[in-house]
Amino acid sequence: MARRKKVRKLNVFLGVIVIIVLIAISIGIYTLVNNPNAITALWNKNNVNDVNQAQAQNEVVEEPLPEDTVINIVGIGDALCHSQNFKDAYNSETGEYDFSPMFKNVTKYFDDTTVAVGNLETTLAGADRGYSGYPTFNSPDELAYDLKEMGIDILTTANNHCLDKGYTGLERTLNVLDDYGIAHTGTSRSEEEQNTILMKDLNGIKTAFLCYTYGTNGIPIPSGREYSVNLIDKDFIKEQLDKAKEEGAELIVVSMHWGAEYRLKPTTEQEDLAEFLIKNGADVILGNHSHVPEPMEMKTVTLDDGTTREGFVIYSMGNFFSAQTDNYTRDTLILNVEVRKNGATGEITIDKATYTPVYVYDNGKNAKDRYELLDIEQIIKDYEAGSSEYSQSIYNLMKSELNKIVEIVGPEIDNTAKSSDESDTINEEQNIVNEVNDEAEGELGRIVRFPNVEICQNMSHDYYYEKRKIA
Ligand SMILES: [Zn+2]
Repeated sequence: MARRKKVRKLNVFLGVIVIIVLIAISIGIYTLVNNPNAITALWNKNNVNDVNQAQAQNEVVEEPLPEDTVINIVGIGDALCHSQNFKDAYNSETGEYDFSPMFKNVTKYFDDTTVAVGNLETTLAGADRGYSGYPTFNSPDELAYDLKEMGIDILTTANNHCLDKGYTGLERTLNVLDDYGIAHTGTSRSEEEQNTILMKDLNGIKTAFLCYTYGTNGIPIPSGREYSVNLIDKDFIKEQLDKAKEEGAELIVVSMHWGAEYRLKPTTEQEDLAEFLIKNGADVILGNHSHVPEPMEMKTVTLDDGTTREGFVIYSMGNFFSAQTDNYTRDTLILNVEVRKNGATGEITIDKATYTPVYVYDNGKNAKDRYELLDIEQIIKDYEAGSSEYSQSIYNLMKSELNKIVEIVGPEIDNTAKSSDESDTINEEQNIVNEVNDEAEGELGRIVRFPNVEICQNMSHDYYYEKRKIA
């Protein structure tokens, strides 16, 4: 009996639940039938919540990162002012010197640069001492002024000709540069000046500029004035590199007057010094002195702790101008090194190193503007487009000089390829090369140079193009 009573109670309870559920369903169906938007509203409400949540998350993710800073450093070869050069610059009507016509074709390459560095391979010892060329140089002050007007911001002064007119010549040179507002490094008028690192803020990148020379052509550095010339001395260089870093330099540019004259490749001493400089903090090394171009490369060195450090070096940029006539002495270039500072990490990397090949052309003794820096690729391009003012013989000369410069200096460097998928980059480069080849069926654009492709000469089209390296 007790058992049956329990069963009956259970049945009554279940019955009540079923009725409640049925009522609830009925109310639900009634509501939906009378208001079909209810489902949509419910759905949208859930979605809006999702979107709000996603937006809230995105706001955290999309917080802007500090942007990278990209600057470019332009370098040129030696401004080696022979007597023919200052005679060319002399205007007999005004009695003044004007070097600017010599630079007119290449001035544009200094327009969009963050900083441009040149080597003043002469002295500005004053007119009263008489202007002179080889072997002891003394040039008109206007040379420095015109280099500045062209776009040079810093002139390096430690080189084998800086004492050509003695200490007073060295001193006057620096006074003139100060008067013109041209920054300088390499020679000094006091110990204090020598120990003051030339530091520039390049769009927020604190950059140090240093300069050293192998010697002074046998002219002794006056005793008591040992500070006047920065000689290549590893201990001294390391001291200055350390000082630059202590003073907060994020980027260090070192100009080196080194190597062997007329040699188209670095000596083992240059290679050893480049390694030493990069190991101790140099990021960009601008080499000069050989009167001819030498190669450029990215160099990776191993530090004492086993980690590696990378730096860029060009061993020589040749003569920016001179009156030299030997083979390769008229071949030069305007170097452009692109440096990136990572906005988030502060890390400094060399993105690219490209160059404009230039030829120092002599229009002849009697020409109004005797010496003229020729923009080699521009002349080739214009000539092939039928719009050149230059003759076919100059066009032919430009092609052979271009070949020489590219062969010596090497391919342009693009390190940005390393950070992305390398194979994609090679494919991309190959596509551009193919495009150039296609274009060349008509008129040629300009030479395309990449680190992953080698330069060849296509005889059938009489122009240069690039072909993938076959591994
Ligand atoms: Zn020199």
